[in-house]
Amino acid sequence: MAAKFIKEENLFAFKCTNCGIYFALDKEADDNWRDSGRAFFCPNGHSLSYKKEDKVNSLEKEIKSLKEKNESLDKTVKELKLEIERLKSELEIWHPVSES
Ligand SMILES: [Zn+2]
Repeated sequence: MAAKFIKEENLFAFKCTNCGIYFALDKEADDNWRDSGRAFFCPNGHSLSYKKEDKVNSLEKEIKSLKEKNESLDKTVKELKLEIERLKSELEIWHPVSES
């Protein structure tokens, strides 16, 4: 039997937890199995699946990261609003609006 190394493909290597055989999936197949949470099989027929917790944990991390980013952006907006008010005050001092 001959083996072929395919360097152009991005393959994800797996090791079956039952029999220890290594096999690979391309990104599209990996995404499908990961998103669906359905079972897939190693070349020796052992049923494997991504745990739903993996997906939940991944989404929880993403939510936490987005919340932190949102808080940071809120802080920036507040700082910019204060800066605008400061600049408006400064402008008023140097160029007062004439009362008419
Ligand atoms: Zn197996």
